[in-house]
Amino acid sequence: MSASLERFAQAKLADLDAAALRRRLAVTVRGPGAEAEREGRALVSFSCNDYLGLARDPRVVAAAREAAARYGAGAGGSRLVTGNHPLLPALEARLARHKGKEAALVFGSGYLANLGITPALVGPRDLVLVDALAHSCLWAGARMSAAAVLRFPHNDVAALEALLEQNRTGRERAMILTERVFSMDGDRGSVPEILALAERYDAWTLVDDAHGLGVVEPGERAPLEMGTLSKSLGSYGGYLCASRAVIDLLTSRARSFVYTTGLPPASAAAALEALTILEAEPERAARPLRLAQRFTARLGLPEAESAVVPILVGTAEDALALSAALEARGFLVVAIRPPTVPAGTARLRVAFSAAHGEAEVDALAEAIAALR
Ligand SMILES: *Cc1c(COP(=O)(O)O)cnc(C)c1O
Repeated sequence: MSASLERFAQAKLADLDAAALRRRLAVTVRGPGAEAEREGRALVSFSCNDYLGLARDPRVVAAAREAAARYGAGAGGSRLVTGNHPLLPALEARLARHKGKEAALVFGSGYLANLGITPALVGPRDLVLVDALAHSCLWAGARMSAAAVLRFPHNDVAALEALLEQNRTGRERAMILTERVFSMDGDRGSVPEILALAERYDAWTLVDDAHGLGVVEPGERAPLEMGTLSKSLGSYGGYLCASRAVIDLLTSRARSFVYTTGLPPASAAAALEALTILEAEPERAARPLRLAQRFTARLGLPEAESAVVPILVGTAEDALALSAALEARGFLVVAIRPPTVPAGTARLRVAFSAAHGEAEVDALAEAIAALR
């Protein structure tokens, strides 16, 4: 009946196999600590974004359990209908305070936040400038806005200025999309320089803080600060922090907010508890970056700027082989291949967590040094 569909899928899969770009799911049981069990083998994971080790923290898990018992497993509706349970405004107030912003809006995920924010603020008569290495969902939001979308070379503020100079006039509104910490490279966006430029050209800057929150010093705040509850906060969901007016506008106009079910009570409660712990335990928050810097020093790599350190390999095949060799030595370091990263830059992405011990970090550095 759908023979052509089957043929299409099989041919595409064969192409992906030939290029070593097919992706497969592996059942993984995380924890305790930085442990991850796969196919019955206990590995030390350097591939989790749970930077502060909070996803399995007993206090966070208890908060999730209590919220589910009290408010139910699901929100039961979209936020604007009946899904706005009390934990959501409570979480928004805490996020806004943490970020030094007037207000916040919680979305179903970070991906959904970025799908909703840009199209709610700009349209066909407008301009969006996106860092070349920005996350897939920032690009998706930019394209959905139907504005003119231009890419600027990664972190190249001079090139960004040239693009603004050439393209800003004649466009009503303009946005610049960047990240505080880039997800696959671990380097930091040039946020202060971009904010200064944005001021001069009347452009609105959206900073994606998915990998920054709780891990790196935030520095200057952008007018639009989005992020996720799913990484350092160990839960699930996304958010935007901004002025009251911007948040009120998005509450009415962001389609990925309006037309989807509210975040489950357990996820909101877990994120709230994790935020409390993050603020109360600065030594925990300082740990992932310190471990990443210990690792880069051991391997003679440029000093880590975040909890993420890339080990550039090149081809997808070589990245998979290095990942497999590390797995045989007890380390889980997943290979990152195109199109997640540009062609020819397949890599291992090493992510550090407060749950790692110094000895585990040193052992990984030794294993990598021996294999390269
Ligand atoms: C993970 C990530 C997101 C998406 O967040 P989710 O909550 O996982 O959907 C958005 N932006 C960046 C930069 C990310 O790394």
